[in-house]
Amino acid sequence: MFKLPPLPYAYEALEPTVSAETMHLHHDKHHQTYFTNTNKMLDEAGLSPRTLEEVVVEAKQAGKKKLFNNAAQAWNHTFFWTCMSPDGQAPAGDLKAAIEEAFGGLEQLKAKFVEEGAGHFASGWVWLVARGSTLEVNSTHDGDNHLGEDVVPLLVCDLWEHAYYVDYRNDRKKFLEAWFDALPNWTFAAEQYAAARGQGEAWKHPGAEAAQSAAA
Ligand code: FE
Repeated sequence: MFKLPPLPYAYEALEPTVSAETMHLHHDKHHQTYFTNTNKMLDEAGLSPRTLEEVVVEAKQAGKKKLFNNAAQAWNHTFFWTCMSPDGQAPAGDLKAAIEEAFGGLEQLKAKFVEEGAGHFASGWVWLVARGSTLEVNSTHDGDNHLGEDVVPLLVCDLWEHAYYVDYRNDRKKFLEAWFDALPNWTFAAEQYAAARGQGEAWKHPGAEAAQSAAA
């Protein structure tokens, strides 16, 4: 059984960029549903994997699309909450230098990130990833992510309409611009960047909990 982790901050902590209403719907309804569906499918298949990463990678390899979509969305959202911080941070140190090297600076990275996310057709995710020490911006469709690939994600932003429609209506670009200015957890991104270069471990989703015994 994989359990929906609580948010790492209060529901209203990301206001005014993202409202508490959006966070309640997004975390308590959308994200919960991905866990409910993943657990149901694993239970029906008689499977009790220990990590959500193995569920995502194996479902993708086996072409189990419904399981993949739900498990990947469960993973992506927990990662997404971790990628945000109410502190108003800025990149520093090696990560700042890598951003300058790859994009020319933070404003150029923002322009690329917003362009990639705003131009992405339909639902998905926009990512800042490290391939070794080199940074890249890209996007994935629906629930797809970079698990099983030779890249480490540093940041992600949700491009599904449920992420911004309450607060920004149809204006995904405005959401992405506001998001990039206020919410990235650059401390976390720097830890992921260090892991990409062999210093420490990249972020992992909390593992499975033992199902409660029916006899208990
Ligand atoms: Fe979402």
